[in-house]
Amino acid sequence: MATHVFHRSLKSKLPLAVRGDGPYIIDENGKRYLDASGGAAVSCLGHSNEAVRAAIHAQVDQLAYAHTGFFSSKPAEDLADFLIARAPGNMEAAYFVSGGSEAVETALKMARQYFLEIGQPERKHFIARGQSYHGNTLGALSVGGNQWRKKQFAPLLVEQGRVSPCYPYRDQKAQESEEEYATRLADELENEINRLGAENIIGFVAETVSGATLGAQTGVKTYFQKIRDICDHYDILLILDEVMCGMGRTGSLFAYEQEGIVPDIVTIAKGLGGGYQPIGAALVSDKIYRAFQQGSGVFMNGHTYLGHPIACAAALAVQKEIEKHNLIDNVQKMGDLLDKKLHEAFDNHPHVGDIRGRGLFRAVEFVEDKKTKTPFDPAFSLNTKLKKTAMDLGMICYPNGGTIDGRLGDHVLLAPPFIADEALIDEIVSRLTRAL
Ligand code: PMP
Repeated sequence: MATHVFHRSLKSKLPLAVRGDGPYIIDENGKRYLDASGGAAVSCLGHSNEAVRAAIHAQVDQLAYAHTGFFSSKPAEDLADFLIARAPGNMEAAYFVSGGSEAVETALKMARQYFLEIGQPERKHFIARGQSYHGNTLGALSVGGNQWRKKQFAPLLVEQGRVSPCYPYRDQKAQESEEEYATRLADELENEINRLGAENIIGFVAETVSGATLGAQTGVKTYFQKIRDICDHYDILLILDEVMCGMGRTGSLFAYEQEGIVPDIVTIAKGLGGGYQPIGAALVSDKIYRAFQQGSGVFMNGHTYLGHPIACAAALAVQKEIEKHNLIDNVQKMGDLLDKKLHEAFDNHPHVGDIRGRGLFRAVEFVEDKKTKTPFDPAFSLNTKLKKTAMDLGMICYPNGGTIDGRLGDHVLLAPPFIADEALIDEIVSRLTRAL
């Protein structure tokens, strides 16, 4: 039967998902798929959680929608209180939107207006990293560093600077310590700031743990502390994008907690609502919030579905379930186990170059030649083949890589739900081994 849905790919026929059951998605033929990547690191609680379903039903019965030009709502107030109480540092307020790109877009606009509020209108540049992904809307795409996703849409919007991502597998030199590597990357940022003129720069944007393009890539030790110091020194805002890596995914509620720093703005989305409702947020520090309060008093932004009551109620229920069952502890435990099993299974595999990540956010990078780290020819498209084979075997893993910024890298991302147990981790590694 012909479809009238405008799918991502108009050439492939997708199975019809009809039901979710914990870590599984079931299609119309009853085939069960182990959701080993939570889609794209979204389903943190797994599917069909009873408490979340009940919270959504209760909110629909109570109040589905009230425009934020006229009302606040209890779910939005409660969710903001929950997040701000748990966000380390001086986070002050949460701005709720409908997803990750909108959260990043909000952060960029908020950062820009912040400098208008404090009388520095000349600041217009952002600096961001290569091989990053910050979303699909034009502003978010502009700061993103994945050339393959950008090139069809050039020219983009935001004038910007660009620095290298932290990618030790390919970039750290043989003789270079972690500290020296971190210093080299920080120096590169400082040079870029000086090239553009610090007085022209709004902020530095980075994923705390890179997801969709680099694959579960953490910063090396002291990297983010050096970045924070530089941003402070030049009065530049640090915007951390935790749309994918935040909300417990890496073993702490916010990924930045493990870096010993606090950003000026942090964006969250996927694990916030866990897939139960579309939601994202930009959390801002007191410095920014105060500037708006004492300045114009209005953030010149707005979407019809800001702070949607059902989305906020669903997200709050997801976060309460995670807290109630200590699932972030389980992320650490099961994350360590997944790492160990991946190393056992693939360390000696001739085409596995790197295994990396933190918590239940892991990636396996494939290479044609392990010694030289030569990637597969992009035309071979290993990760797309792997995605298809894994789906045939009943598992969802998230492929990424390809030709990016003129460099190469093929990986799959694993991001199982926080409810994972040992048997599920075994099953993931075993199915990935068979697929490979
Ligand atoms: N930022 C990051 C770090 C992401 O991983 C993503 C989505 N992969 C986005 C932003 C965009 O989020 P969304 O797809 O919900 O718009």
